[in-house]
Order: sequence, then structure tokens, then C-alpha cells
Amino acid sequence: MDYLEKHRQAGEVVKKVVEESRAKIKEGVKLLDVATFIEGKITEYGAETAFPVNISLNEVAAHYTPPSQDETVLEKGDYLTLDIGCHVEGYIADTAYTVKVGEPEDELIQASQEGLDAALSVIRAGITTGEVGKVIEKAITAHGFRPIENLTGHGLSQYSIHASPSIPNFDDGSTVKLREGDVVAVEPFATTGAGRVVDDDKVYIFSFVAPRPLRLEPARKLMHHIQNTYPQLPFAERWVVKDKKGEFLLRLLIRNGILFPYHVLKEKTGAPVTQAEHSVIVTEEGCDIFT
Ligand code: MN
Ligand code: MN
Repeated sequence: MDYLEKHRQAGEVVKKVVEESRAKIKEGVKLLDVATFIEGKITEYGAETAFPVNISLNEVAAHYTPPSQDETVLEKGDYLTLDIGCHVEGYIADTAYTVKVGEPEDELIQASQEGLDAALSVIRAGITTGEVGKVIEKAITAHGFRPIENLTGHGLSQYSIHASPSIPNFDDGSTVKLREGDVVAVEPFATTGAGRVVDDDKVYIFSFVAPRPLRLEPARKLMHHIQNTYPQLPFAERWVVKDKKGEFLLRLLIRNGILFPYHVLKEKTGAPVTQAEHSVIVTEEGCDIFT
């Protein structure tokens, strides 16, 4: 089976999981239950998680995933974004959508979807990534909103989520051309705010960088466990530790350069953010959407 077939297989799994996740979203439901439901379905359908499900509420744009003690529940009117990724032998399908809890879709949700639709309608071999960004920006600003300029779409290569090329969400003037056979995720974000995200102090998603000498035995054990279990793709705090002591050890591994921390990203002005994402294979004539 060739690698494009594996991307498509991952895409079939994620499509089913997206559909089933929509039915779970209701006022009063715990974020933790949404996360474990989605991640459980991915493995039940024969794929593996490519990253912890990102559950973003309101001004959060990305990189939040509930820790094991999270008691947050969905409230009516919350903008809820689910960003879900799975892989088959490292070949990833990455997709995202936003809903307003207990309410119909509004214009801010439509804006990121229209940005995505516009991008997918122009993508073909030979187009520059700057031109793709330009149509995304145009679709979002037509509603009076801003695209998030410091978050981008990206290439997908085996066991690598953020491969080249980057796909900007505005016209950044890039002359990098998409080529036939490129596998890319396109992910416009729309906001009523300034259109930039900033790092929050909090971090619940990490990836392994390299082993380093450690004196503390439990820290060394945790490092080896992570190195063996999640050597390449990102993992969630709640997948590896369950208590305060574990959280402390993870922070120790960050300080020693063993882990990379994906800080929670929030819109700079605290304004709500929506996102829409699909993964595609670039063809001569257009693109093949597989999520
Ligand atoms: Mn994604
Ligand atoms: Mn992505």
C-alpha cells in the first residue's frame, strides 16, 4: 500500500470520529470526557492518535488538551474548536471544526469555513502558498474579521505534523509553490480580535526532543517511558502522569531540554477564535480532500 493510501485510511477514521464527536457536544459535558471519547474512537477504528485532541474554548486558539483533573464543562454559547489528528503508520490526517455550544453556527464560524473552502478551491500544483493565504484572508476579512497571522497550515510527512511547506492564513508574499503529491493541512483561523496569538504560561502538550543525563530516578524513569512510547509525535500530560508529582517531573524534563512544551495559544486581545481544517493531496488539477 502506498503512503497516500495510508493518509486516506487515516482520513476515513478521522471523518467517522468527527461525525461522532459532534453528537457528544452539549452543554454540561466535561472537556475531559470529550477528549477521552475522541481518542478512544481513533484507536477503536484502527488508527493511532497523531496528537492529543486539541479542545479550544473561546479565546484559546490551540494547544489546550484537558489534564487528568480538569473539571471544565461546556457552557451554552462557548465557541468550541476540536482539532483532531490520527495516523496510520505515521501518515497523518489532521482536521478541525468549531461549533457554538447549544446555538446555531454564526458568522465567525462561517468565516473560517469560507476561508478553508476558498483555499481548497484554488489549491493545485503550481500555486504559491502566498496566493492560498490571500484567498483565505479575503474570505475572512469580507466578514469584518481577521485571520490569525501567526498560525499556519503545514505539510504532513511521516511522523511529522508540521512539515514544510507552511500555508499562511494571509498574503505573506510567499512564492513557495505547491507540487503535485504534496500532502498539506490547510487551517484558517478567524477572530474578532487583533489576529495574533500569544503563548499562555500553561502547557499540557509536549514532544520528546532528546535524552539527557538526570540525577533524579523518577525523572529518569519518566524520560525513558516517554522516549519509548512517544519518540516523535506529541503527547498529552494526562497520557503520562496523573498527579502533582508527575506534573513537577514533566516541568523538570522541559527545563533540562528533554521535552518541547507546546504552550496554550490565546488570541492576543482575548477575542474568540474559530478554526476550520482539512488535509489534502495536491494534484495537477486541484486537490483531493481526505478528511
Ligand atoms: Mn489540526
Ligand atoms: Mn494542522
